[in-house]
Amino acid sequence: MAFEIKLTLTCPRCGSRLTLREYGKYVQLYCSECGLSVAIRKRVILMRHVNYDEEVLDWSSALDFLYSLLKGKATASY
Ligand SMILES: [Zn+2]
Repeated sequence: MAFEIKLTLTCPRCGSRLTLREYGKYVQLYCSECGLSVAIRKRVILMRHVNYDEEVLDWSSALDFLYSLLKGKATASY
């Protein structure tokens, strides 16, 4: 089962709205217009962005991380 939703975040390459997709062991941020995409394992999000003392997920920092990876890809491909 996959989860997919449009975001208000825009593509660093073409400016279209990005889609957040969750499938299997991955969370993917991608642009349906230009095909720019980045995927990371959910385990990485659990390791980097969950505060286990308080049992909270810092989703905005997880999304920032994904977006920074995507921006890196957008500039690297030029
Ligand atoms: Zn794009």
